[in-house]
Amino acid sequence: MTNEATPDTLLRNHGLKPSASRLLVLQALMQSAVRHLDAEAVYQCLVEQGAPLGLTTVYKVLAQFEQVGLVERRELRPGKRLYELACANHTEHGHLVCLQTRQVFEFDMAPLLDTLAVVAGHHGLALSRVVVTAYGVPQNGIPRHPNDNTSR
Ligand SMILES: [Zn+2]
Repeated sequence: MTNEATPDTLLRNHGLKPSASRLLVLQALMQSAVRHLDAEAVYQCLVEQGAPLGLTTVYKVLAQFEQVGLVERRELRPGKRLYELACANHTEHGHLVCLQTRQVFEFDMAPLLDTLAVVAGHHGLALSRVVVTAYGVPQNGIPRHPNDNTSR
């Protein structure tokens, strides 16, 4: 799956009929400059586009997307469920959250996966799923986020 696929194709590939509400929510996720969105942010995007979907419908559609693996739910902030499009070339990444600004940075987990595979092997396990969310505060108390283009 890539982001070049059309919303219609993505929905069908995940076993979902491309209803109007599913297409609108998926298009909002695909078009957003922000990678990690909560349901309210998706709803707000739709309101700005003049799309007639209620917040309850947005929640329902996002839950359907999560169930079929079209989006992944991220617990990056206390009490906030953020959703991220699942993408074949973007699966193995971790998240680093700035506790001061709440900005989210993604990082390549390949080096960590090697270490975790060794640790799992010591316990007779093969890694099946790895979720890494790290938190940090600005060094010297001064926020410096030059490469943030993934979230808010
Ligand atoms: Zn992410």
